Amino acid sequence: NYKQLQKLFGMIDGRGYKNYNEIKGIYKFDFFTLEILHVQRDPFASPSLIRILMDEVTFPRELLSNHGRKIAVADYIGRVFNKSIKKQVQGKTGSGKSGVISIDSGGPEILERTSVSIDESSLEIRLSVGLPAKGRRILGKEAKKLFLEILPRIITESCIHDHVDAEDLREHVFINEDSDFIRNELKKRGIVAFILDGSVLPRMSGISEEPLEGAVKFKTPESLLISIETPNHGTLTGMGIPEGVTLVVGGGYHGKSTLLNAIERGIYNHRYGDGREMVVTDPNAVKIRAEDGRRIEGVDISSFIHDPPLNKDTSKFSSENASGSTSQAANIMEAIEVGADLLLFDEDTSATNFMIRDERMQKLVSKDKEPITPFIDRVKELRNEHGISTIMVMGGSGDYFEVADTVIMMDNYVPHDVTELAMDVRKEIPINRKIETSSKFGYKKRCPLSGCLKPFKGKRLKLDARGKTMITFGNELVELSHVEQIVDTSQTRAIAYAMNYISPKYLNGEMSMENIMKELKKDIETNGLDYLAPSGRKYPNNLSKPRIFEIAAALNRIRTFKVRSCQ
Ligand code: ADP
Ligand code: MG
Repeated sequence: NYKQLQKLFGMIDGRGYKNYNEIKGIYKFDFFTLEILHVQRDPFASPSLIRILMDEVTFPRELLSNHGRKIAVADYIGRVFNKSIKKQVQGKTGSGKSGVISIDSGGPEILERTSVSIDESSLEIRLSVGLPAKGRRILGKEAKKLFLEILPRIITESCIHDHVDAEDLREHVFINEDSDFIRNELKKRGIVAFILDGSVLPRMSGISEEPLEGAVKFKTPESLLISIETPNHGTLTGMGIPEGVTLVVGGGYHGKSTLLNAIERGIYNHRYGDGREMVVTDPNAVKIRAEDGRRIEGVDISSFIHDPPLNKDTSKFSSENASGSTSQAANIMEAIEVGADLLLFDEDTSATNFMIRDERMQKLVSKDKEPITPFIDRVKELRNEHGISTIMVMGGSGDYFEVADTVIMMDNYVPHDVTELAMDVRKEIPINRKIETSSKFGYKKRCPLSGCLKPFKGKRLKLDARGKTMITFGNELVELSHVEQIVDTSQTRAIAYAMNYISPKYLNGEMSMENIMKELKKDIETNGLDYLAPSGRKYPNNLSKPRIFEIAAALNRIRTFKVRSCQ
């Protein structure tokens, strides 16, 4: 039990760092069990891993009565734990990471993650701890204090129901639940996104996820107002964006991109106080942008790009260095391939020649000299024949009035429904641009080849996230900074693990991307995130749940990825 640990710290005090190895093991405390899983090599190496296990759960059963509630309670415990660390741990206690405790508790999104898991009869918390040392000498007294005083205090403050703010916890759980509820409602009502009246959409700055103070609160225009009866918050009213083609127009700096960004993130639930806690989007919404320089592997982009110079076959298009328009076309096809049903575009990050080609340009540059079929000529077809909706920020061209179902104008951060006005303008100033499609929208399926993913570097498995936007996978670096709906480093890590997981299992030249992602999704849902970890890593680093769209995005960007067309 813990007395042994106490004794061990006394014994190794002042000795060389590697003696810390002796503390590996399981120790029983009064109200929890501590398991020291991995001991770091030196004070500067990645910190040691520990687990806290409790078999008496003090949280109300009612708050643990379904999967969604458990996720929310776990998420809440992680946040409180993190706060408690900040309160209880006063900085480093020695060299390197000495005395630093950390937990993967996430940002504003509520995600399923491996750092905290809870059900009616068990609570598990995974932490990393920097074992205290001065130079390479063990600071046994500091370690004793850390494990026998500070840690139990933190656990008490965050893992015992009587010590947390019960009201706050309930609200956290209920907000999460109502967000899920609304997301389920969307399809039934023919809506792709919901934005609660009074939401605060803008963030403090480009690098802060905190809500902007003094922001203009979201106010729904009458014609788009909908009410939803929620299980925990009564009737909520806000803007429902209907299925179809929606344009967001308005002057520069009036809040268009801010609205779109909030919709992008509405695929996740948000914590209480975030400002976007009831901004809820279709779970299969994918942000589409231009991404010149990215790799493309065998993607059928022929619905958008046909007969380019040098006559490359665009039905299985590959490039090591794609242009703005081809990368945007590939991003669309790859998203649709794995089930996207809402595409989000912002003019700020789109390739102009991909989005529009106006009447005058059609006259000057004839169709046979322009390989691009602009998105404007496909957007209606996608909606009518494939059930794929679009929300697009487009302040610079009125051509899209031809194809829009809904037009929302942002004016000083307030949305207005200007659909009818836009239709009047359309009549007043008719345009005669031709629709330039010569064939129906469609694509060849892709089947990834076996063995194309190589997770080893020499003999070592090399598989991890390097920050939120980069994966190291064997010898490869996968760049994800333009995959904008990844929100957490532990998601990125889970993506790396997922790629490694599917490689021997599903990449066989026969299974399509769509089916691989379906199976993967099922596997994660049935077995949990840890299941993705490479065998042998019993307690992997922190993972949080990614969507299949982001996993597919990483596959599509790794430079060794190989597919064949498999219609
Ligand atoms: P646009 O895309 O229309 O050019 P942005 O969405 O980029 O405009 O917003 C411009 C600026 O206004 C940003 O700095 C943003 O933080 C701020 N902003 C956006 N929405 C609001 C709001 N509701 N209240 C206050 N400031 C806002
Ligand atoms: Mg903008």
